[in-house]
Amino acid sequence: MNSFSIGVDLGGTNLRIAAFTRAQERLESIAIPTRLEAGKYAVVQDMCDAIHEIAKKLRGSLELVGVGVGSPGPLQLPSGKLYHLPNFPGWDGFELKVEIEKVLGMPVIIENDANAAALAEFLHGSGKQRGVDSLCMLTLGTGVGNGIILNRRVWHGMLGMAGEAGHGPLEYDGAPCGCGGRGCLEQYASATAVSRMAKETAEAGQSEAIAHILATRGTVSARRVAQLADAGDEGARQVYRTVGKFLGLSLSQLVNTLNLPLYVVGGGLASSWHLFAPTMFAVLLRDSYVYRLTAPRDELDINPLCTHIVPALLGSESGLLGAAMLPFAEREMAVALPS
Ligand SMILES: [Zn+2]
Repeated sequence: MNSFSIGVDLGGTNLRIAAFTRAQERLESIAIPTRLEAGKYAVVQDMCDAIHEIAKKLRGSLELVGVGVGSPGPLQLPSGKLYHLPNFPGWDGFELKVEIEKVLGMPVIIENDANAAALAEFLHGSGKQRGVDSLCMLTLGTGVGNGIILNRRVWHGMLGMAGEAGHGPLEYDGAPCGCGGRGCLEQYASATAVSRMAKETAEAGQSEAIAHILATRGTVSARRVAQLADAGDEGARQVYRTVGKFLGLSLSQLVNTLNLPLYVVGGGLASSWHLFAPTMFAVLLRDSYVYRLTAPRDELDINPLCTHIVPALLGSESGLLGAAMLPFAEREMAVALPS
C-alpha cells in the first residue's frame, strides 16, 4: 500500500496542513487563518480538525505514516515545549506536542520550522540536486531562520536549540532584536529589517522614492524596496547591499565553523538574490579564509569539494513540505540505525 504523511506549518498568520507522498506529491491541503485571538487551545483544535479531515479522505486507499508539525522557535526538542515566541502572545511554556497529541489521539513529531525547511531543501531541493550529505540553510522571511543538516540528520544540539544563526550578533551596538540581543543577523537580513533600513535611508535623505512611499502609506515593504532597487534607486540598492554585507559576515562564520559543502539561502527575501549576492560573496572572500580556499571558480562550477552558496530551489512552502517529510525521515532513520 502506498503511504502518505501530513505536515503542518504553524505560522503567526496562517495555519497550513497538507498531505504529501514521500516523492513530494501533494495529495490534499487545507489553509486557514491562525486564530491567535481565540487562544492556543482553539488553534490546536483547528489544526487537529484539519488533520482528521485530510486523514479521513485518504486513509481508505493509503497508509498514514505520521504527522509532522513545524513550529516557530525557540522550542525544546523532542519534547515540543515552546519558549517565548514573539508573535504568539500567551504561548510561553506551552506544551505544544503534548496538547496536539491529546486532541489528535496519535503521536506527532515537532520540529523548528526553519529546520523543517532545511530538511525539505535537503531531501527535495538543492541538497538533492547536488547530492550532499550536509547543508546549512538561512531562511530570510519576517525573521531569519536557520537549519543545519549534518550527515543526513537535522542537527538539534542538546535541547533542540541549535541553528539559531539568525540571532548571531554581528554588530556589538547594533539594532535591538526581539530575542533580547543586539545587532543580530535578523536585524539586517529579514524582510522586517529591509523595511526598517529603507525608512532610515529615507530619513537620511538618501531616497526620495522611498520617502514618497512612506509619506503616503506609512510603511514600505521589502518587495517594494527591491522593485525600486531594480529600477535604479541608489538608496534602495544600498539597503540590499547592507543585506548582502551582513549575510556575508554571518556566512563567513558559518563556513569557518562548519566547513560544509552547501549553504542555502531561502525565504521570501531570497528572490532578491541578484541585489544582495554580489556584496555577500565579496564579504565572504574578504572575511572567510575557509571560503577563500574553497570557493568555486564560478556559479557553474559544481566541484563537490568546493563551498557552494546558492539560493533555495523550493519556494515558500518548504517548511510545510519539510514538516510532512519528518515522519518519513524518522522511519528511514529507524531502518538505517536499529536501536
Ligand atoms: Zn536576535
